[in-house]
Amino acid sequence: MARSPYNAKAPQNENHVKPTVMRTLVWFRGKDLRIADHAPLRDAASAGEVIPLFVLDPYFFAPARARELPHRMQYLLASLRELEANIAQLGSRLVIVAGKSTKVVPMLAKKWSVDRVVAQRWVEPFARERDRRVREALHVPFELYEGETLLPPGTLRSQGGQPYAVFTPFARAFLQTLTVSKPLAAPKSLPPLPREVTEKSDPLLSDEALGIAPNPQLVEAGEAAAHQRLKHFVSSIASDYAQNRDRMDLRGTSRLSQDLKFGTLSPRQVWTAAETAPHPRAFLNELTWREFTHSTLWDRPELLGKPFQSGFTGFPWSDNAEHFEAWTQGRTGYPIVDASARQLLREGFVHNRARMISASFLCKHLLINYRRGEMHYLKYLTDGDWAQNNSGWQWSAGCGCDAQPYFRVFNPVLQGQKFDPDGDYVKRWVPELARLPARYIHQPWAAPASVLREAGLHLGRDYPLPIVEHTAARERFLLIAKHHLNRSRPT
Ligand SMILES: Cc1cc2nc3c(=O)[nH]c(=O)nc-3n(C[C@H](O)[C@H](O)[C@H](O)COP(=O)(O)OP(=O)(O)OC[C@H]3O[C@@H](n4cnc5c(N)ncnc54)[C@H](O)[C@@H]3O)c2cc1C
Repeated sequence: MARSPYNAKAPQNENHVKPTVMRTLVWFRGKDLRIADHAPLRDAASAGEVIPLFVLDPYFFAPARARELPHRMQYLLASLRELEANIAQLGSRLVIVAGKSTKVVPMLAKKWSVDRVVAQRWVEPFARERDRRVREALHVPFELYEGETLLPPGTLRSQGGQPYAVFTPFARAFLQTLTVSKPLAAPKSLPPLPREVTEKSDPLLSDEALGIAPNPQLVEAGEAAAHQRLKHFVSSIASDYAQNRDRMDLRGTSRLSQDLKFGTLSPRQVWTAAETAPHPRAFLNELTWREFTHSTLWDRPELLGKPFQSGFTGFPWSDNAEHFEAWTQGRTGYPIVDASARQLLREGFVHNRARMISASFLCKHLLINYRRGEMHYLKYLTDGDWAQNNSGWQWSAGCGCDAQPYFRVFNPVLQGQKFDPDGDYVKRWVPELARLPARYIHQPWAAPASVLREAGLHLGRDYPLPIVEHTAARERFLLIAKHHLNRSRPT
């Protein structure tokens, strides 16, 4: 049972006798990289001495591992540097130590004679296992706070007492249950570190030392930039969010996903700010999707390894390496799919509608296992999040935890024409098509030879012809899926 920052009550361990001045180790863990609305930090500061700690665990920070998540690592390191500076400004120091969390935290807790360790809870199965091991090895209470989500995951149950398997009833129950209080301000100051804490911080590795080529196109990291984005969203974008959120050519969404992922903003800060904007419902609905994905992963940790719809187990996916390569590199011949692939590699971000089209294309047109797309996205997305990404991929493949039927196959041309009507999104990311008239930009193969000539485009040389034909690919998927799902249905 974790503590809620929204309704923080007594500490968990009733038998633990509180000394008058408590010494608290506040363990920052990479999903809470902020000083404002940080309940563990605020509680610790009001209880006495505080030791802020970050552990460079090789699970994430070994160079070979860090290279597997270059954009997230870049965002995280930059946000961590800002957190370090903010904590220094408050009068303390973020102690940064390299080593395995399961060893380092209990060892330092003992060495520094702390009374308790506090942190924000994570929902992922591997994180829960980490926390179980830390708790087991600690000689003092380990208090986990809610805050990654607005409602503690696993709270909501259907009338039958089960976790929800469909978003809409989950959202209804969520809104009925939710009360959101005002976000906490940052502490005005922090006490200096206790004298026993003599450790120098391990240097924060630079991107270069980790073997990551810094990408200047990533969104700006850190708590201050995140607040600027939130402010800009609420004042300038939110009012038209419902109309524009699906338009890939417009800046119609908040671009806050990495901030929610790394906790440079808390979901409570985002929710309460958004509530002040005109017509916030559509946006709050997306935040509710975020809640649903986290709650679902909490209740069904096995989803990181297998499809929610068990009929999909053993699905005869294709292992066509050329197709997968074309999809990752943005060379499928479908402009909207290629634009999204290139945006991912360059910006570490993809518009939600483009994610859905691109994921559907991989799983359905190319028949490639959603897990390969999921891994590719996790590698390059700055907002790459286990719960949200897994949910997005399973939803797109039609095997996920929601009422998304497998037989709905996006048509990439129609989707492009509808949600990128002038082709501006495509032109930005696939510049070789920039001179094509809007009419053909989502289907260059349909353009007459004279139009192609005028646009300076030689298909098959400057830009690929489609690697699969839409109608045939769609029918192939439907046939195979129907056959497989009928076969795996219990008789
Ligand atoms: C295949 C696929 C993979 C995805 N992978 C991720 C991921 O790794 N990390 C991630 O944060 N989102 C993921 N999403 C959800 C969504 O695409 C992004 O959250 C959104 O595009 C981020 O842009 P934004 O912040 O401008 O969103 P906004 O439209 O402004 O939405 C506000 C916030 O709501 C949450 N949100 C929005 N849509 C969803 C959704 N469908 N499911 C869950 N939460 C949502 C995000 O936290 C987002 O920041 C994925 C979706 C798909 C289809």
